[in-house]
Amino acid sequence: MAEALHGIFIEVEVSDEHAGDAELAQKLDDACPVDIFKASEAGVTVVHENKDECVLCGLCLDASPPGAVTITKLYDGTTL
Ligand code: SF4
Repeated sequence: MAEALHGIFIEVEVSDEHAGDAELAQKLDDACPVDIFKASEAGVTVVHENKDECVLCGLCLDASPPGAVTITKLYDGTTL
């Protein structure tokens, strides 16, 4: 993945199934302390510039249904 070559160490993804859920989008926007999720009426957008600010706190996972959000540590390949 090209982004990994540019110093991105954390990948944050929202599943297609959940990305359009405006209610979930707002929960994620509220939960993340470093503004990785941006909510709109169309759902949630991952703010790519902020992904490396992820502190692996897991609050987004707590705020979402299982499988909706995936946090991957690209440096060792594990997911939260
Ligand atoms: S683990 Fe924490 S910092 Fe990282 S995206 Fe989720 S809420 Fe934001």
